[in-house]
Amino acid sequence: MTPRVALVTGGSGGIGAATAAALAASGHAVAVGYVSRAEAAEKVAAEIGGLAVPVDVTDPASVAAAFTQVEDALGPVAVLVNNAGVTGDGLAMRMGDDQWRRVLATSLDGAFHTIRRALPSMTRQRFGRIVNVGSVAGFSGSAGQANYAAAKAGLVGLTRSIAREMAPRGITCNAVAPGPIATNMTDVLSPERQAEMVAAVPLGRMGRPDEVASVIAFLCSDAAAYVNGAVVPVDGGLGMGH
Ligand code: NDP
Repeated sequence: MTPRVALVTGGSGGIGAATAAALAASGHAVAVGYVSRAEAAEKVAAEIGGLAVPVDVTDPASVAAAFTQVEDALGPVAVLVNNAGVTGDGLAMRMGDDQWRRVLATSLDGAFHTIRRALPSMTRQRFGRIVNVGSVAGFSGSAGQANYAAAKAGLVGLTRSIAREMAPRGITCNAVAPGPIATNMTDVLSPERQAEMVAAVPLGRMGRPDEVASVIAFLCSDAAAYVNGAVVPVDGGLGMGH
């Protein structure tokens, strides 16, 4: 594995923290992005010899500042994992504008902001690996999560457009589509809802963050050079390839 500089947004959380660790184990210098949990991000960074960086992906100025900080400290970013995401569940007929916007602004606008900032330097490097963290909800829809499912479905279109645009420059763009993974995001759900989700998974359990991280790390590797525009399910068989 060629050591490179990687930025993981939402590195303070479950899947992001595991991804930062997996990329560090692959030899990369890793910037661990956070927006509210500075302490958690510092801890992850200390464990992997990385750098904790504040980055609110909804804000292009914050994204620009974070990239500059990473470039100054570690060098140009060659590996970008757009993992930042939030939920704001509610039935569509009662969903407020803010509730809709916040979820789209984080998962979808956020990925666009970081990708736009990353591409000129990846183009100069003639190398880039971008992985967007989608969700099975982006394919199947999810009652009470119209905002989240729309954002994650949008990420698929973004992923495949970037994959086409940037392939001639040696930059690949892929996505993962996790099923239910045991993190803060699912911990807040009622035990009944969690049991319902697990019942739909052929493997009969929630996934672990490291089980998503290992797939992301592969997509970021030299070995994945010919994988482009793929959306890889990591869902215990929930979507059976979709
Ligand atoms: P967590 O809640 O643990 O992590 C979410 C991360 O997103 C946190 O690190 C948080 O930062 C960060 N974040 C939130 N808002 C912003 C923002 N505006 N700018 C930058 N970072 C932000 O949950 P997960 O680890 O589960 O989620 C990670 C990704 O995986 C998300 O995109 C989620 O949609 C996706 N996913 C999760 C599934 C699951 O079942 N858990 C299933 C499918 C997809 P901070 O902690 O600093 O606030």
